Amino acid sequence: MTSSASTSGFEPGTPAAGDGGAGLHAQWYDGEHARSQEVELSLTSGELCLALPSGDQRRYPRGRVTWPERTRHGVRQLLLPDGGVVELRDAPAWEAWARRHGLADPLAVRWAASWRAALWAAAGLVLLMVGAGVWGVPWLAERSAPLVPQAVRVHIDRLVLEQLRSEGWLEPSQMPAGTAERLRAAVDQMLARAYPDAGRPKVQLDIHRLPGWAGPNAFALPGGQIIISDALLELLPGEGGHFHPGVLGVLAHEVGHVHGEHGLRHLLAASSTAVLLGWWVGDYSSLLVLAPSLFIQAAHSRAFEREADDEALRIMRAAGVDPRGMVAFFTALQRLDPQRGQALPSFGLATHPPDAERARLFETGSR
Ligand SMILES: [Zn+2]
Repeated sequence: MTSSASTSGFEPGTPAAGDGGAGLHAQWYDGEHARSQEVELSLTSGELCLALPSGDQRRYPRGRVTWPERTRHGVRQLLLPDGGVVELRDAPAWEAWARRHGLADPLAVRWAASWRAALWAAAGLVLLMVGAGVWGVPWLAERSAPLVPQAVRVHIDRLVLEQLRSEGWLEPSQMPAGTAERLRAAVDQMLARAYPDAGRPKVQLDIHRLPGWAGPNAFALPGGQIIISDALLELLPGEGGHFHPGVLGVLAHEVGHVHGEHGLRHLLAASSTAVLLGWWVGDYSSLLVLAPSLFIQAAHSRAFEREADDEALRIMRAAGVDPRGMVAFFTALQRLDPQRGQALPSFGLATHPPDAERARLFETGSR
């Protein structure tokens, strides 16, 4: 709620905001929307300040900002404590600005600068991989998932979405105007009833046209981004201005994946080294290559699918959404593709466990 450029209340002796016109231009993602805004950064001894084009300012305590590390190439990223990300595309300008403000190289970079440390790091990595092999990567993924901050999860989602877009797999929805808003409101209402207290997963819902091979589908990313396809909404049209309970059920299932941190655990297990390296070095480019294919092929494990189905059933019952909507969903899928049950490529809705078993759960409440 801080606004206007007239700054006051700074600690005595700190340089004035604006920095004598030496502010740094950057792109700011607020962590909620995919679109970035141009901002100007300035830094005092206590705070990082983002000046928005609107004249508003956002301030963050300097110590709570995750500063980018010096890597040899690419865009620098700065993680904000509220889940936002600042992207610095002009690396040399950033370097100069950071030096001028006495931002020391983070430990990892100073480490990597010394070959002896690099050798130790390599030895440590080998030990870690051996350890992962011995104790089991899923175990490691389950334990480490809760340690990944929300800002990093949201950042991963953004990378995955960018990659899916660049592959041409995420086209704008062609559903009637206002569909997304109505669907978000319906899901919001459902989740408010299902999670009356704490523990409600943070999700962001969007509708897209997916490629034909994806079929009617929905999937969830580690940071809570859920995508549902036009084809799924067309497969299960609603009645009387209400969405089909099967649509809400599929979305509840995806919420179940977010709730169980399945996407994150899957990602961590499949790429534990890449993630850990990215964490240390501040460069997630290896994930960029890995993550999208992971989510396209994402047949989650049977255990994850069952967990998500159980959570979906709980959500639907708590919210008064008819669980038999899911039975209609499986029936409609079967009609669409009688071969289903073999190898239909599918995002979040893997064909395992079998549809019949899943339908039975939603029909009878037990397997
Ligand atoms: Zn699933």
